[in-house]
Amino acid sequence: MHAVYLRSHGETDSVVVAERPLPQPAAGQVRVHVECAACNHVDLYMRNSGKGITHALPLILGVDGAGSVDAIGAGIDNWRAGDRVVIYPAQTCGHCEFCRSGQQMLCLKCKVVGEHIDGTFAEFVCVDESTLFALPDDIAFDVAATLPTAYLTAWRMIMTQARVQPAETVLIHGIGGGVALASMQMARLAGARVIVTSSSDDKLERARQLAAERGVNHRREDVVAAVMEFTRGRGVDVVIDNVGEASWPASLRAVRRGGRIVTCGATSGPQPSADLQRVFIRQIQISGSTLGTHDEFRALLAAVAQRQIVPVIDRSFDFDEAEHALTWLEQGRQFGKLTLKINPGSR
Ligand SMILES: [Zn+2]
Repeated sequence: MHAVYLRSHGETDSVVVAERPLPQPAAGQVRVHVECAACNHVDLYMRNSGKGITHALPLILGVDGAGSVDAIGAGIDNWRAGDRVVIYPAQTCGHCEFCRSGQQMLCLKCKVVGEHIDGTFAEFVCVDESTLFALPDDIAFDVAATLPTAYLTAWRMIMTQARVQPAETVLIHGIGGGVALASMQMARLAGARVIVTSSSDDKLERARQLAAERGVNHRREDVVAAVMEFTRGRGVDVVIDNVGEASWPASLRAVRRGGRIVTCGATSGPQPSADLQRVFIRQIQISGSTLGTHDEFRALLAAVAQRQIVPVIDRSFDFDEAEHALTWLEQGRQFGKLTLKINPGSR
């Protein structure tokens, strides 16, 4: 089968588009014929180093994918060939304390497709049956492929961790990236007023057209001053920060007393100043978040099927353009998700 895989890390020819053996589903697994996948920052991380993530090379990239059931392993009766599905990326043990309490992304034996095991940038991928979710007919495969990482992460941050309420104010850094944009849409769905930052006036304008009330170009404007003006000196109720070192000092100063900051990434670096005095004196609540639970994924799929959330796809690349898509992501040129058409006839 055709696949996009890593044969090394950090070299110009690390990513290869070539044939790999057709995987066979083990007991309890289903083989999915992938129609569409989506790119994420973690693909770049895997390409560049993959440090700290247990895996073997060659490794097929791709965390997000949607398609149809193709072959079924022993002991499975819930799925039939041809069923439309979207894959929850974390393959979990089902037995540990976190799986038992429905916190699947905290599973002690969690293996993520495209990180620990072969991923979705391939014609076929084998996954545990428990990670398949039925895809309603009215969600197209490319839309479905945007959901498992960016939109699920945003859903958990806004709905579960920050519990954003109507009329609250939310600051989101780095609008344009998949998670930031998804968070903006979720915050609006929750009834909040949203302020976004970017270095691109074009992205700020597009964010305003979609959902943001105020855009701040952090190259020209002081983010904290803009937030204080917007909130009449109070600060925002919630900050969504997946930028890390570069934005964290502003996050701590932009949030109101007793406000919430949720972090789900550190693309500019993982070690900002903690400023603990500010955190405890102002009683700032800081939460970490990544992915979401099976229940949250179900809720997200329902919201997308009902068009409460319409995922933003920046552009769609053909299979053979996978490296080009990763470069596009690396350069931060996107406004929304980058999808990869695995089956050229898919939509
Ligand atoms: Zn587990």
